[in-house]
Amino acid sequence: MIQLITFDLDDTLWDNGPVIRKAVKECYSWLLKKCPELEGVYDSVSLNDLKDEIKSTRPEFAHRVSEVRVVGMKMALERVGYKTDEAMILAREAFEVFHHWRHQIELFEGAEEVLEQLAEKYPLAVVTNGNADVKKLGLGKYFRFSVSAEDMNRSKPDPVVFMRVLELAGVTPEHAIHVGDNLITDVQGASDVGMRTVWFNPDKAAIKKAAITEENYKPDSVVHSLEDIPAAIENLSVRVW
Ligand SMILES: [Mg+2]
Repeated sequence: MIQLITFDLDDTLWDNGPVIRKAVKECYSWLLKKCPELEGVYDSVSLNDLKDEIKSTRPEFAHRVSEVRVVGMKMALERVGYKTDEAMILAREAFEVFHHWRHQIELFEGAEEVLEQLAEKYPLAVVTNGNADVKKLGLGKYFRFSVSAEDMNRSKPDPVVFMRVLELAGVTPEHAIHVGDNLITDVQGASDVGMRTVWFNPDKAAIKKAAITEENYKPDSVVHSLEDIPAAIENLSVRVW
């Protein structure tokens, strides 16, 4: 019997690439306009690169996807002469711009109907490595709770993340199904703790990378359209394991 369904967000419920590109552009445009001292020293690309630089050199920021962006902008502002306090205030204000645009998403067709349908029957929860907030998206009503990499200071596929979700729901792994688009972070991560998995593969992507084979990270079910998720879950729920 299924007692919990967990959902990934980015690229499972909406196409995230364009959302992030727009949010990054708006955020850095705001900052460059607000702080002309940055002109000629930084542009949108180099400001964004700072985030990756910090992530790779300071492990304490590895899972803090919001904070790393703030710290990157603060660092840039300090380098062009802003005092620490002022740099931090401006970086946080700029991040608010990012955060606003990060939530301007367009759900995949049928996404809300699927959530509505599933939520009537099962408790749903969010497990995300990103910083989208379902409450800000008007989807909070479908989910009992959310767990993010930032909350946990760990990211999927770390089994600790999935164990935490199960603990919060008071459910054992064999009674839980995770739905996500990524074979490693979602399918491998959830499988490693004994959850069943539904791989959302809208592009019907072939598994090409050497490190990933369908054999290694075999999803219990594969769907190419969100509308097929309820049926996939029904099939899994009647299967004996
Ligand atoms: Mg995803």
